[in-house]
Amino acid sequence: MPVPASGTARLLAGGQSGPGVLRPMVDTVLEALAHGAADRGGPLPAGGPAAVARRIRGAARPLIPDEGEGPHHALRSLVRALAHGAAEPADPRCTAHLHCPPLAVAAAADLAVSALNPSLDSWDQAPAACALEALTCRALAELVHPHGADPDALVTTGGTESNQLGLLLAREAAQGAPLRIVRGANAHHSVQRAAWLLGLDEPLTLPTPGGVLDPVALHTALDRPSGVPTLVIATAGTTDTGAIDPLPDIADVCDHHAATLHIDAAYGAPLLFSDTLHKRLHGLDRARTVALDLHKLGWQPVAAGLLAVPDGAALEALAHHADYLNADDDTEAGLPDLLGRSLRTTRRPDIFKIAVTLRALGRRGLGELVDHVCAAARHLADLIEARPGLELYARPTISTVLFRPTGAPPAAVAALRRRLLHHGAAVLGRAATPEGLWLKATVLNPHIQPDDLRGLLELVEGDTTP
Ligand SMILES: *Cc1c(COP(=O)(O)O)cnc(C)c1O
Repeated sequence: MPVPASGTARLLAGGQSGPGVLRPMVDTVLEALAHGAADRGGPLPAGGPAAVARRIRGAARPLIPDEGEGPHHALRSLVRALAHGAAEPADPRCTAHLHCPPLAVAAAADLAVSALNPSLDSWDQAPAACALEALTCRALAELVHPHGADPDALVTTGGTESNQLGLLLAREAAQGAPLRIVRGANAHHSVQRAAWLLGLDEPLTLPTPGGVLDPVALHTALDRPSGVPTLVIATAGTTDTGAIDPLPDIADVCDHHAATLHIDAAYGAPLLFSDTLHKRLHGLDRARTVALDLHKLGWQPVAAGLLAVPDGAALEALAHHADYLNADDDTEAGLPDLLGRSLRTTRRPDIFKIAVTLRALGRRGLGELVDHVCAAARHLADLIEARPGLELYARPTISTVLFRPTGAPPAAVAALRRRLLHHGAAVLGRAATPEGLWLKATVLNPHIQPDDLRGLLELVEGDTTP
């Protein structure tokens, strides 16, 4: 056998020698992360896309050298460039999207997953991860559906996939009858895409002038043709404003019309961890399927999505066979069958970092982080209300705050946002409502302080460029 050019150097992350091989590389990574953060010096690299691309071209070439440069050189240059050019959600001025700063403990747990590389398409590739996933999914599903017959959850890549699965399960439950989907205009765009992907009719979209789905309008819409299997999509934490639809009233309307309810709680579901805010999710347990993300509130590195159901039997429609992964005789002999737990085949155990986080912080610890960011959002709203130069869209429901320079037209708001991005000064999002365009701050940083919030507003007010 030819000897690889890397000679006898140890290459692998796993095995008994893996930790010894990894440790110096991890040190290199950590050092490069620190240098890259210092190079950037703020929430976003300055100079816009062209400047970032130029620096990456410098750092990344040669992209595929004939002769390798070795792990330390490659890690040092590319990790530093990645960090220099990152949008850093751990910086309090990076508060645009549902893009959370991950917990260190979750990132550390993810390293173990990368080293061991369990794959959740068959038990023989992930024995412990498989057992841990089953337990953790059930525990999380019980938080969502405490009175469910047999609560369970599937791990997904996020709300998009969870919504897709919710629609798919409803389509299968309709047993070939056309499925009618009714959603509010405030629903996430992935619902529409899922309907398209699954060959379903275009969803009926009800206007949501108040930002939430109106149960009376829903009742009227469902009154029209009867006897059609119907899936209603409600949202607990809209992406644009963080609004929560009136879940108990919507669930009542669904019951009245024998419609199935899917709640997209990708953003809002972690309010369940909070001793006080969980009340806002009253009615969540009445959904047949619930989408939740722990890579938003939940502080997990991407990806960490779930789809929870009150009764695991609802998941049987996803059963699927491939002899090499879940032969009937293997399953009968007691090897867990994993193929029906995802539409993916090879699948990383994203549950692991979640399980470690839940143990490390506890429900209360996570709940306190949720409480903190929601309180910070309310404080931000107070500060905006106290400044005549700024206009607040509405008091926050979760941790999203929309605001703008008082009376600013849409083009001015959009340009202001892009200037802050270009200077690397702040990352704020944008949200369009019937009242125009707003700057969006989605507060997800559990260390954020009143001074940070004031600083953010001063940046916006100080931007006087026309
Ligand atoms: C973020 C979000 C989604 C999409 O989730 P991904 O994790 O990005 O796939 C869906 N619905 C809502 C309400 C969201 O906030």
